[in-house]
Amino acid sequence: MRRLRNVKIVATLGPASANYEIIRALHEAGADVFRLNMSHGTHDEIAEKHKIIRLVEEDTGSTIGILADLQGPKLRVGVFSNDFEILEDGAVFRLDLDVSEGDGTRVCLPHPEIFAALEPGKHLLINDGKIRLRVNECGPDFANCVVTAGGQISDRKGVNVPDVELPLAALSEKDRADLEFVAELGVDWMALSFVQRAADVKEARDLIRGRTAVLSKIEKPNAVERFEEILAVSDGIMVARGDLGVELPVQNVPPIQKRLIRKCRAVAKPVIVATQMLESMIDSPMPTRAEVSDVATAIYEGADAVMLSAESAAGSYPVEAVMTMDNVAVEVELDPTYTQIIESSRKASRASVADGIVAAAREIAETTDIKAIACFTQSGTTALLTARERPRVPIIALTPLVKTARRLALSWGCNCVITDALDRFKMAVVSAAEAARKEGFASVDDQIVVTAGVPFNVPGSTNILRVAPCDERLIYPSDSE
Ligand code: PGA
Ligand code: MN
Repeated sequence: MRRLRNVKIVATLGPASANYEIIRALHEAGADVFRLNMSHGTHDEIAEKHKIIRLVEEDTGSTIGILADLQGPKLRVGVFSNDFEILEDGAVFRLDLDVSEGDGTRVCLPHPEIFAALEPGKHLLINDGKIRLRVNECGPDFANCVVTAGGQISDRKGVNVPDVELPLAALSEKDRADLEFVAELGVDWMALSFVQRAADVKEARDLIRGRTAVLSKIEKPNAVERFEEILAVSDGIMVARGDLGVELPVQNVPPIQKRLIRKCRAVAKPVIVATQMLESMIDSPMPTRAEVSDVATAIYEGADAVMLSAESAAGSYPVEAVMTMDNVAVEVELDPTYTQIIESSRKASRASVADGIVAAAREIAETTDIKAIACFTQSGTTALLTARERPRVPIIALTPLVKTARRLALSWGCNCVITDALDRFKMAVVSAAEAARKEGFASVDDQIVVTAGVPFNVPGSTNILRVAPCDERLIYPSDSE
């Protein structure tokens, strides 16, 4: 489905978006990638959503990416006998390993590894940081804390321990089972939560065995510090502002977002900006001005994708939220200031032949009346390099691999078209021209730039650039090649 924007939209599915009609409506309104949150729902429910997405893909003739988001080592308190308690500022509250139900004085925290790593003076944040506890005294199975910011605590609320590097396994037993299940189901991206080091990503990669691309969620201070090493072993990144804003002072999030986006673009890997983008639209058909500005800012900064969480998963206005993002994106991309910002932040890293070809393709397209850049891509690398150039003309990524097309659904500007497997450049040019006309990027009198790697089927070998007419009869008039 052709969009009027280059930035992509990721919509999280949940109870508010579980049937065919709504998933199709979300896609038609602008969702390019759907996120399945493995923290919620049974495997049967996940499989059902997956089936519906593939059906929508088939019925609309488009390419849709599916991102499965593993829960990761998310820490949670146990349950309370009264479902919830109110903790007052200055009160004493105990966390321990006793699995019996909690009350106003204590609750279970079923993670011995936290107690092993705690020290007096460290902080525990509960319920997205709304409640803060400071450790007074602790041992291998308890921590006596003072409440420094009170509030309501209830069953299984999340716990963050920002000051401490926890020796937690990157993948729980549940994560491993979920990973295997969705990899076999056939998702395109696997998102890893609470990544702390490159080794966490490598561990997941070994289990994934190439079945999906791997996206690291940056939501721990450690991950920000070790961003380079994590980026090097990941295929994509999520700026996971929800947990990041709890683990770090919230005012640190915007500069980190900017920095991470730039670093991802420099290495041509897609980056998603996530969480609370249109938060008020969970209950309201109209976003706040600040939220609209936040979505716009992420796009001006050069993000590949913006994401909806509860807005599309559990809110009352999921389709309106996608439409809002789409409208904001279209408007930002029409702004000459956007083009200026994006072009002035282009990195001149010309390390390979492929880098040179994609840069030349952009320059030729922008200095003449060329309607699109069509690139043949197997692994997706040439399309990613072309997207990094952020050309003013549309990118058509042609690939015989459905898997590659679906992964590219997350990347800025990539309009994917599935082609037959090709073995000759001549056929590539003909099918690029045909795709450009069919998808409405060019008409028969127009010209496009075509790039490819010959011989075909060798990833990263882009070495040919041709300016071609879209009229098939004129491509090789004397049939000389
Ligand atoms: P989550 O991750 O929605 O899975 O918590 C995103 C975030 O923390 O921002
Ligand atoms: Mn998170």
